[in-house]
Amino acid sequence: MTTRAPRAALLAALLALVLACCGPAQRDEATEPSMAPTSPGAMRLAVVGDSITDADSRDLSGGRPGPGSWVFYAAGGEVAFVGGWAEWGATTAQMAAAARPVPADVLVILAGTNDAGSGVPFAQTAAHLVAVADAVGAQRVVLSAVPPIDAAPEVATELNARLSGLARDHGWEWVDAAAGLRDGDRFAPGMSTDGLHPTRAGARVIGGAVRDALLARGPVPRAWEHSGMAMREIRVVGDPVLRTPCAEITDIDDRVRSLVEDLLETVDADGRAGLAANQIGVGLRAFSWNIDDEVGYVLNPRLVEVSEDEYQDGDEGCLSVPGLWFPTQRAWYARVEGIDLDGKKVVVEGEELMGRCLQHECDHLDGMLYLDRLEKGVRKKAMKAIREQL
Ligand SMILES: [Zn+2]
Repeated sequence: MTTRAPRAALLAALLALVLACCGPAQRDEATEPSMAPTSPGAMRLAVVGDSITDADSRDLSGGRPGPGSWVFYAAGGEVAFVGGWAEWGATTAQMAAAARPVPADVLVILAGTNDAGSGVPFAQTAAHLVAVADAVGAQRVVLSAVPPIDAAPEVATELNARLSGLARDHGWEWVDAAAGLRDGDRFAPGMSTDGLHPTRAGARVIGGAVRDALLARGPVPRAWEHSGMAMREIRVVGDPVLRTPCAEITDIDDRVRSLVEDLLETVDADGRAGLAANQIGVGLRAFSWNIDDEVGYVLNPRLVEVSEDEYQDGDEGCLSVPGLWFPTQRAWYARVEGIDLDGKKVVVEGEELMGRCLQHECDHLDGMLYLDRLEKGVRKKAMKAIREQL
């Protein structure tokens, strides 16, 4: 890097000039095409980016991308665009400052070009992108490659290599959505007019690639494929139902059967480890889990044993406290006894993550949150973060 410093400085000046000069093009509102309609239960998409994402949008944050934005082509049908943030010339620091929680299933980030142009070290870019993902709070994060920079193609190539590593390190998905724009390491003919921003045809290529990546895991979480089975809305901290101890199940009736169905469907998504009934608004003692590819449930669970002298200190999170994780001490092992839908006794036990999950979910049924178990200083920090984010 240091050996290329003079070149980088030149590039910074060049990009600053290009980014400052260019603004969204004027459009004729009367002829503006409209986005494809979305299906009920579509995957909810949030995006964060810069001019490449904002393009000619009049209100991207409000869910209205312009036809020059790739988002326009990624959304529709089984993908519903629900908002986010993008502005011309935005650095990742600005994105991190602007990002807010969005009720989305997936966040797509297309960013970094302006950092490269301003000489921001990649470590800072990486930290900002992590902050963006944390702030938005979507379960699934997809990081996209940036399009070419024709004036200095190696800068985009190097940035993309680093972004791809960042995605891998954080368990995010990586998509080279700009692949179809390139001819070698520069824009292919017709894909850009300024060597930096995609044309409408280019936006369509990026949008199509992002859309393919989003739908590669199946059109929508399985819950939505069956009529009558809905992915239930998760109640978040502040909702009194989370602070109310749940009632013992006395009759295993249709209501309980449908609760179990909802618990199993709703927990069966990436990033979800456990779900208590009151988190979906039902005050009955039941929870589900999704750990190591095994999804299960238990009714009337009782925590009958925890390891006395073996602990774990890792980070814990909760679907009802979205986007936040804090170190929480738990017993290493836990054992729960309860019943199934036939009223037969079941035993659920496990170490590490399973042990943590069992303790966490039993707490929920008693009207507790993991926040109550945080060490004093950490709890203070957590409360502050919640006040700021929710
Ligand atoms: Zn929880």
